[in-house]
Amino acid sequence: MSSNRAVAYIRPGTVEVRSIDYPKLELQDGPGVAPENIGRKCPHGVILKILATNICGSDQHMVRGRTTAPEGLVLGHEITGEVVEKGPDVEFIEVGDVVSVPFNIACGRCRNCKEGQTGICLNVNPARPGAAYGYVDMGGWVGGQAEYVMIPYADFNLLKFPDPDQAREKLLDLTMLSDIFPTGFHGAVTAGTGVGSTVYVAGAGPVGLAAAASALLLGAAVVIVGDLNPERLAQARAFGCETVDVSQGSVEDQIAQILGVPEVDAAVDAVGFEARAHGPDAGEAPATVLNSVMGITRAGGAVGIPGLYVTDDPGGVDDDARSGTLKMRLGLGWAKSLAFTTGQCPVMRYHRGLMNAILNDRVQIAKAVNATVIGLDDAPRGYAEFDQGAARKYVLNPNGALDDAQAA
Ligand code: NAD
Ligand code: ZN
Ligand code: ZN
Repeated sequence: MSSNRAVAYIRPGTVEVRSIDYPKLELQDGPGVAPENIGRKCPHGVILKILATNICGSDQHMVRGRTTAPEGLVLGHEITGEVVEKGPDVEFIEVGDVVSVPFNIACGRCRNCKEGQTGICLNVNPARPGAAYGYVDMGGWVGGQAEYVMIPYADFNLLKFPDPDQAREKLLDLTMLSDIFPTGFHGAVTAGTGVGSTVYVAGAGPVGLAAAASALLLGAAVVIVGDLNPERLAQARAFGCETVDVSQGSVEDQIAQILGVPEVDAAVDAVGFEARAHGPDAGEAPATVLNSVMGITRAGGAVGIPGLYVTDDPGGVDDDARSGTLKMRLGLGWAKSLAFTTGQCPVMRYHRGLMNAILNDRVQIAKAVNATVIGLDDAPRGYAEFDQGAARKYVLNPNGALDDAQAA
């Protein structure tokens, strides 16, 4: 009961499963913990036994050495679990509840939380608005690629599943509610996707595939997914998307071949700052997707940008990129009156509705992202394969809850 094991970032390219402290209802000192957060009491928190916890492209930015993540940072912000202990101030969550944890940590008490902007809570990270578990510059809340984790402000943050047994049966789908399903859905919604829309999703990683599945759920007529990874493009075609291979050159031309016109109603950037330029053997060019989607989105349309952009990138291609300064053709976007939505997805805005879509078989999200269960000790292999571009969403199974799970 008092032991705990977790995936820690060691150095670029290396993660390791380590013994760490069993969580307390208080934030302890440790790698990446903001000094002002040390000793912060969380009587409003719970301890979860983790049933499923996923590896994310956001983790990869850290593990590739593209952030200032410190050695020993415990990773993991995509958490689903069972409540095993609750603090004295928790009123509505009980021991035994099976819950989804939004990756954003939110107090529920600040101006932004009250306005539904839970990705930029003002009270959980002394350094800047917004916090997350197991993430650089996000307050130092201990990550959940582990056996156990502490979740603060539990009444506000947690989504309780209506039936714990049903939740265990659908766990491989429900685990996507902590991040990528709401994030992809947010991308599609903020791009203006509706019934009959034509949609371009840049990136066929798990977030892009979740955005594509979301666009279909929202009634899009045609969803086109772009990437340079053939295996991931095949995964997108497997559930009804059209695809473009950006290494083959112009995205506009390839879209025109599919739609008859070189533009779409709505576009989603599910790539972020590690974007590759278009064309054969192209290197990294961080503004590629932003400029491309401005070009192909109809005038008056919108672009959803869940893809991550950073303020500091030690591995940036030049001085500008190292401080997150990008060469964007904003004039083009302005001339077309495009709307842009950036930032962390406010998971709570969407997770209940998407849970109901899963529980009533309206969507097969685990299948769309090719959810693949591996043991906690296999996390280093999962990170390595994901980094190589495997068309999979790796789900860690730290306590055996997913021993029998298979994507529907
Ligand atoms: P991923 O790294 O698995 O996928 C990114 C994909 O983009 C890769 O398949 C890559 O080949 C492809 N790509 C590179 N350049 C491209 C280009 N020019 N055009 C099209 N595709 C290109 O990552 P993921 O897990 O799918 O996450 C995607 C992004 O979303 C990451 O930046 C991640 O940090 C971010 N993210 C944001 C939020 C949020 O709340 N905003 C939440 C989760 C993830
Ligand atoms: Zn994530
Ligand atoms: Zn808040």
